[in-house]
Amino acid sequence: MSRFLKEAFKSLSCYVPGEQFQDRKFIKLNTNESPYPPSPLVAARAMEAAKCLQLYSDPESAALRQAIAGLHQVKAENVIVSNGSDEVLNFAFLAFGDASHPFVFADITYGFYKVLCDVNDIPYVTVPLREDFTIRAEDYPDSGHIVLADPNAPTGIPMPAEEVEKIVQANPDRVVIVDEAYADFSESDCLSLALKYDNVLIVRTFSKSRSMAGARLGYAIGNEKLIVDLKLVKDSIDPYNVNLMTSAAGIAAIEENSYYMENCEKIIRTRRKTVKKLESMGFSVLPSGANFVFARHPGIGGEQLYRKLKDKGVLIRHFSSERIRDFNRITIGGEEQMDCFFNILDDCLNEL
Ligand SMILES: *Cc1c(COP(=O)(O)O)cnc(C)c1O
Repeated sequence: MSRFLKEAFKSLSCYVPGEQFQDRKFIKLNTNESPYPPSPLVAARAMEAAKCLQLYSDPESAALRQAIAGLHQVKAENVIVSNGSDEVLNFAFLAFGDASHPFVFADITYGFYKVLCDVNDIPYVTVPLREDFTIRAEDYPDSGHIVLADPNAPTGIPMPAEEVEKIVQANPDRVVIVDEAYADFSESDCLSLALKYDNVLIVRTFSKSRSMAGARLGYAIGNEKLIVDLKLVKDSIDPYNVNLMTSAAGIAAIEENSYYMENCEKIIRTRRKTVKKLESMGFSVLPSGANFVFARHPGIGGEQLYRKLKDKGVLIRHFSSERIRDFNRITIGGEEQMDCFFNILDDCLNEL
């Protein structure tokens, strides 16, 4: 670091994303990307939009917001779009958090929440998940704005919408952010709560279920007053936050909705097979409503398995924090990728 970095940032620990190797070929099951490419219309529209790159993008993202509103049957005023959902999370933390308005989230959840608090100088409180890694609604009594990932990451465990609603009702004067990055792979979601309550913000992304991780597109849905707050922050730090190509790609991805929903069905089917196969090999697997599973094996440590697989050309994700260090998170890939993965996994276990 340079001698100019401000004091408060000298001890900042940033979010550590899953490894992205640009040179070596891996079977890549570590960052929850879709194994399926975007629909051809998406690429075509992005290319078309690229012809106008001399122009700024629409700071209102009106057409894209309208398309998202149509998809979810809400009004455009209930929608804000962002450069990946991480950006809209940042807007929300900035808009609602400060020294006297801390954030509350689970001890095991998406690592970015803590980073957003640290970088924005917002205090936070973590609430332990139950022994079985589920969230207990009663553990969230009116002590700060709340952010929940549902399904949770990296466990994959979905939370019934009624349980989320209990949290919302117990916290009428707090914002409850429900990060639904994986909702398209789950049986339920909390979208209806965003229309029913004025303190619920649903955050979604095109990165996972819509095969657009590299395009960076996310959004939030909520009461229009909450959206006005987020827009204030957006216009203060990144008014043209969604670029022309991504915006065109996003609209096309919504037009092609059925293609993506079919891909989600395929991934859910592959997930079911993956769980069975892992269990037959002795793993225990947490219930998943996402495009990944979280699993541990009694005979091999999480980190050891991660390393063995990496040596053989397979990337999965290991987290070293104490409660989950025996586990690995395995993204659900395409059928062939998973067959390959299982062959290599078999070799690893046989070598023990
Ligand atoms: C992947 C992920 C995100 C961020 O996705 P973007 O690529 O920034 O849209 C947000 N929350 C959770 C829980 C995620 O897993």
